[in-house]
Amino acid sequence: DEEGVDPVALSLPSSSKPHDDNTWGDTSSYARNKKIQSFFKLPNGEWELVKILSYSGSESLISLSEGKALKVKNDCLVQSNPVILDGVDDLMQLSFLNEPAVLYNLQYRYNQDMIYTKAGPVLVAINPFKKVPLYGDDYIEGYRRKSIESPHVYAITDTAMGEMVRGSFCPLLYGESGAGKTETAKIAMQYLAALGGGGGIEYEILKTNPVLEAFGNAKTSRNNNSSRFVSFLSLNLVVQSVRVFTYWKHQSRVVQCAEGERSYHVFYQLCAGADHDLREKLNLRNAGEYKYLRQSSCFSISGVDDTEQFGILTEALDVVHITKEDQESVFAMLAAVLWLGNILFTVIDNENHAEVVEDESLTTVAKLLGCSSDQLNRALSTRKMRVGNDTIVQKLTVSQASDSRDALAKSIYACLFDWLVEQINKSLSAGKRRTGRSISILDIYGFESFDRNSFEQFCINYANERLQHHFNRHMFKLEQEEYIQDGIDWARVDFEDNQDCLNLFEKKPLGLLSLLDEESTFPNANDMTFANKLKEHLHSKSCFHGGRGKDFTVNHYAGEVSYDTTGFLEKNRDLLHLESIELLSECSCSLPQIFATSMLTQSEKPVTGPLFKAGGAESQKLSVATKFKGQLFQLMQRLENTTPHFIRCIKPNSLQSPGVYEQGLVLQQLRCCGVLEVVRISRSGFPTKMSHQKFARRYGFLLLESVASQDPLSVSVAILHQFNILPEMYQVGYTKLFFRTGQIGLLENTRNRT
Ligand code: ATP
Ligand code: MG
Repeated sequence: DEEGVDPVALSLPSSSKPHDDNTWGDTSSYARNKKIQSFFKLPNGEWELVKILSYSGSESLISLSEGKALKVKNDCLVQSNPVILDGVDDLMQLSFLNEPAVLYNLQYRYNQDMIYTKAGPVLVAINPFKKVPLYGDDYIEGYRRKSIESPHVYAITDTAMGEMVRGSFCPLLYGESGAGKTETAKIAMQYLAALGGGGGIEYEILKTNPVLEAFGNAKTSRNNNSSRFVSFLSLNLVVQSVRVFTYWKHQSRVVQCAEGERSYHVFYQLCAGADHDLREKLNLRNAGEYKYLRQSSCFSISGVDDTEQFGILTEALDVVHITKEDQESVFAMLAAVLWLGNILFTVIDNENHAEVVEDESLTTVAKLLGCSSDQLNRALSTRKMRVGNDTIVQKLTVSQASDSRDALAKSIYACLFDWLVEQINKSLSAGKRRTGRSISILDIYGFESFDRNSFEQFCINYANERLQHHFNRHMFKLEQEEYIQDGIDWARVDFEDNQDCLNLFEKKPLGLLSLLDEESTFPNANDMTFANKLKEHLHSKSCFHGGRGKDFTVNHYAGEVSYDTTGFLEKNRDLLHLESIELLSECSCSLPQIFATSMLTQSEKPVTGPLFKAGGAESQKLSVATKFKGQLFQLMQRLENTTPHFIRCIKPNSLQSPGVYEQGLVLQQLRCCGVLEVVRISRSGFPTKMSHQKFARRYGFLLLESVASQDPLSVSVAILHQFNILPEMYQVGYTKLFFRTGQIGLLENTRNRT
């Protein structure tokens, strides 16, 4: 794929001089400057900044970095920016806003450890995958005194503090897995903690991190410390309180884990770090002896010492006021989950009915939960069903029983997590009145697209679609408000939004979510009937394509994703059998509140598969998708009440290594997360803004005739006239001049030549 490259690459003799007698439109001055550069797309798709040696008509002779010269068609070249704009800290300052220019600028900065760049109102943060000298007391002090101006999370957080007087404020972190959202959130919290002088609530909030990460993060193929939940942390400095909201924990990881990945950190930390006494009490073994953890042969993370992490965890639990007794109970529940995974079933009759094998696993789980082995056996191997007013007990098959075991493990873990978050909230906001003024940080997991996408990706991507909608609206709104405030003539731009895709998900009764819920209530439905139903009702929608067999494809804002409906119905119904719930409510484990508070109230009407009859009174229970949507709307409501500040985290390479900048990967993320969109919006607007004073100072000396009045506005207008800047290319506001993209570039060139 040579893309218009002249097949004959010429070697340039070192003595040869580029000839500069050609003209290239009215930018011929560039050539005389001999500094003219341009972007050229290499056959591998990467952009390179090349020197233009000469040009004539439709072709140019360019010089590549390895000293080769090449004759190429002019339309293979993309305008680069004047050298004074190299590495500008706001992409809006680029005269030529195109993809290679944005990529080049970010790379230029990244190579010098300047990982933060503004894209107008958005802060772009590129993951350095190494320690960069941008943090610590000196920097914090610099941003606090506002003596450092370059873009930084500290700067955004500082603005937050300032804005808190006016209302709540929220840095929103977006980006794909491993892009650095969680680290960035922690950096913001460190700034807050430093401002608080240490010792206050800010110190405690820092300590929520090790707790939430131990229980909510895991090693995945993309990130060794991947958050598998969404957190919304709200800090109120006025009344010194913190509230953490968590959403959408991925529970399936507790019982299922892909090769090379790990389950939640806390399991490994416990197995490695528990002292002798605790091991005895919980009958704890090494991680390798538990089936749930053994499914993947990965037990450790390079550079991470789980024993040490366990120490950090217990210390953090102390700081957030979880008593030692409660901590021990938490660990007992974790051990119960691990031992549950080791429970085996035997077939007891020729109908494949199951019974629990009476071994150490059974007795240990029963002991840890505080029930009898019999109770546990019954809960796992039978199912009670209500038929009319009667209750019948049905024996489960081995595979059904294994499912109910896994469902129990998942809900114990989920309840434990909820309980912990609740405790943290109680202790960090004890008795504090809630007022509107707060600073919040949202750390969400990003858009996901794998080779095989399941129900989890379906939910995550739906949430991201909603958040993108929020992003779009704010981006357009803020930019346009600035124009209007400065009084310029501006016809509001309607933006291209992702409403169609949202409708595809949310429309009732014919949207993805409604159809999923409807199908989940049919006892005889399966993944195939669900897929067919989607195709039947949605085939005409622009964002939807039916796929082969059980697949369907959604055209998301960030690209097409094909979903495999296998397991959708099952996961949406979220089976937790009545017996399990009864079991947990009867258990005498030392943390009975765990189950009392969260699970039992949430599943007031526990319903098993067969009870999901259409129209049946029992089908009141909310499906997973419906709960998910409810939480998403709650979150959106919280966001609507805050002033958003967007941080887009970018992963520069998939190796998790420092110093590697893969253009293609970066570009794909810039496109996905809408950074180029913001840039595109500004191109239709007036991205370059300069105060009257600054403009007059910078270009005033170019005036050929003196101006009667020396006020900055008159000088500015005279400059505009002299340079024949077309009226549609700029606007004069009350305080600033607004330019369309590219305009300053021309002035800048003249200035440099003079
Ligand atoms: P996920 O969606 O999977 O949770 P994430 O966006 O939260 O991903 P992080 O866990 O924040 O990603 O970052 C991944 C890794 O990148 C970190 O563990 C850390 O090693 C490195 N990293 C991220 N940001 C920085 C930074 N500012 N300085 C140094 N290293 C960083
Ligand atoms: Mg994270």
